[in-house]
Amino acid sequence: MKYFFKCFAFFLLVSCGPKKIKFERPVDTSSRPIEFQNKTSYDFPQKEISFNNKFDGARINGVSQINDTIFKIIIKPENTPINNSAYYSFEISSQSTQTIYLKFDYPQGYSHRYIPKQNWGDGWKITENKDLDFLDDKILLRLENIYGKGLISAQEIQNSNDVKNWINKILKNKSYINWVTIGETNLGRPIWVLDITKGSPTDKPLLLFFTRQHPPEVTGYFAFKSFVEELINNNPVAELFLNKYRVLAFPLVNPDGVDLGHWRHNAGGIDTNRDWGHYRQPEIKSIVNFIKKTKRKYNNKIVMGLDFHSTYYDVFYTNVERESTPYPKFLDQWFEGMEKNIPDYKVNEKASNSTQPVSKGWLLYANKAIGVTYEIGDETSREKIDLIGKTSAQVLMKLLTDY
Ligand SMILES: [Zn+2]
Repeated sequence: MKYFFKCFAFFLLVSCGPKKIKFERPVDTSSRPIEFQNKTSYDFPQKEISFNNKFDGARINGVSQINDTIFKIIIKPENTPINNSAYYSFEISSQSTQTIYLKFDYPQGYSHRYIPKQNWGDGWKITENKDLDFLDDKILLRLENIYGKGLISAQEIQNSNDVKNWINKILKNKSYINWVTIGETNLGRPIWVLDITKGSPTDKPLLLFFTRQHPPEVTGYFAFKSFVEELINNNPVAELFLNKYRVLAFPLVNPDGVDLGHWRHNAGGIDTNRDWGHYRQPEIKSIVNFIKKTKRKYNNKIVMGLDFHSTYYDVFYTNVERESTPYPKFLDQWFEGMEKNIPDYKVNEKASNSTQPVSKGWLLYANKAIGVTYEIGDETSREKIDLIGKTSAQVLMKLLTDY
């Protein structure tokens, strides 16, 4: 009642914020403090070696020398409690050719998740098994005959600058893509959307694509990139699709978390994928407000949303409820089409209606739309991710164009 009167009183002056959604298991997403990393260089002059975290997306919280060849790499999360996604990323510089060992150290209760990726100037490579020793829940990484500068990272570094470069690349000769800043994070970073359609956006069904709510989930972002690149490919399938539909693609939902090298949260210390009920954090608030405004102005109706993430394996989390959505048969047909077109591929679907305030639940409960959490495995091969991303977009476009 109070909400109604407040809205009514201001009706002529301002419009009301988006309606809050009740979830079975609500989460308090009020901001909590985070601990910032000390951005510094850890130098060991006698060994002619140093480690640093002086770039966006880096994370190390300390380095100490254990003996002549072993260094302890201390990694901490931005705050606790937190999901076990022990992300790290740093640069090593060695002025002589040498073999060293890095012992990763996470706080009590947290264990190793990501196989180290390395870039010594000739592209990212996954660390081979022979160079890894698993010690209970930690790892020992062997770096053999290293010299010069190299990056060691839980996943390939994809910070906000990398995302910006990707956007600039795909925008070339594509005047039908609008790149818009729709808000600001706690630390003043822009929140971006790519608004994509051909011809007038008015009256078109609307599709929403999200990624990087969770900073280390780079493989989900890779699938998102391949997916979006397919939507804007110069071919008849994409042409027909974009004539009929409007797409809002959010390529970096949590830029503060990404650039701060966070394990999970935004700069408000919160998992943004628990904020889709009350919209307390600026990222989700800006996104939901923008969608609401856009829908109203152009008479668009949300039909579907995919939120790209990563976990230990490939999986599509779906809602059980489908009859109230615009295309109740879509998911079965989409998965069938993907299996037909990707060799040796079986879709792993887990269906349950969301009980916590996640984007998938918001899509269903607030919009009666199809909602999917599109998860890619941390170590799924990058070629396979590209194939899954592209094929899932092709099948989706064909199905939706025919409806
Ligand atoms: Zn996630």
